[in-house]
Amino acid sequence: DLEKIKNTGNGQDKQLRSDGQEMGGAWPGQAFSLQVQEVLFHEKSQYQDVLVFKSETYGNVLVLDGIIQCTERDEFSYQEMLAHLPLFAHKDPKKVLIIGGGDGGILREVLKHKAVEKVTMCEIDQMVIDVSKKFLPHMSHGFSDPKLDLYVGDGFEFLKNHKNEFDVIITDSSDPVGPAESLFGESYYELLRDALNDTGILSSQGESFWLHLPLLQHLIAFNRRLFSKVQYASSPVSTYPSGSMGYLICGKQDHDLSVPARILDSAALKEMKLRYYNSEIHRAAFVLPQFVKEAFE
Ligand code: SAM
Repeated sequence: DLEKIKNTGNGQDKQLRSDGQEMGGAWPGQAFSLQVQEVLFHEKSQYQDVLVFKSETYGNVLVLDGIIQCTERDEFSYQEMLAHLPLFAHKDPKKVLIIGGGDGGILREVLKHKAVEKVTMCEIDQMVIDVSKKFLPHMSHGFSDPKLDLYVGDGFEFLKNHKNEFDVIITDSSDPVGPAESLFGESYYELLRDALNDTGILSSQGESFWLHLPLLQHLIAFNRRLFSKVQYASSPVSTYPSGSMGYLICGKQDHDLSVPARILDSAALKEMKLRYYNSEIHRAAFVLPQFVKEAFE
């Protein structure tokens, strides 16, 4: 069950040491280091430990509960893939919901879609929004956009009051220990399914197939009961544990989500300022190594 999987996949003893080394039960026996130039912010919010530091070579880094959430140097791989895989798999996304996403990176990407008329976002922690506005301006400029409706609260609770409403829902959550725990269970995905309209597509932060295979098998198994299409993609992100990040993409219709519904030419790529996502990478990201394919069968 989820409790057991979490304990093998994500430990409680995680920490980012003052020398910038990320250690923890989530990835036993391995560690990742970034050289710290200066700690810019460090406080405990109501929900988690919030740290921002200036690194030697990766720009400013946001760390929650000892786990790196994003660095200015490589965040675009994660933000572009988590946002554009569902948005380009959809023919005409008008209403988009983001759960989590307090750093603003996913919001920035969603707002690049001209079809999008309204973005709703529910982030639990005001402190994450505030530090991102201050220390991650390149990610957080979308917070002033008039298309945004921002709610500060628990995404799980928020969904209970929204039915048959959104074209795309993106869950940009932290790991399933701490405030994001409720965002990894079957009941959360039932709420997501019900909040999507009939042609709706979701994407969720999908951890890493190197480190969290049992958790992913569990997520994929129950989602196959809830959605017509359940697919998994990945991309390299150098500062995530194991250097790879996954994206769980589910659709209410039986359409292959690895095929973009809209193809980008080079002018559109430039206009949208895309640095990682393109139409070829959309398809390629769903091609999985054999051991992962077998695990998900
Ligand atoms: N890309 C990141 C990663 O996994 O490394 C995650 C990005 S970070 C913006 C995730 C956000 O989810 C945090 O700001 C956190 O406060 C928020 N969050 C966690 N639990 C939540 C919940 N139950 N409802 C809404 N937001 C939540």
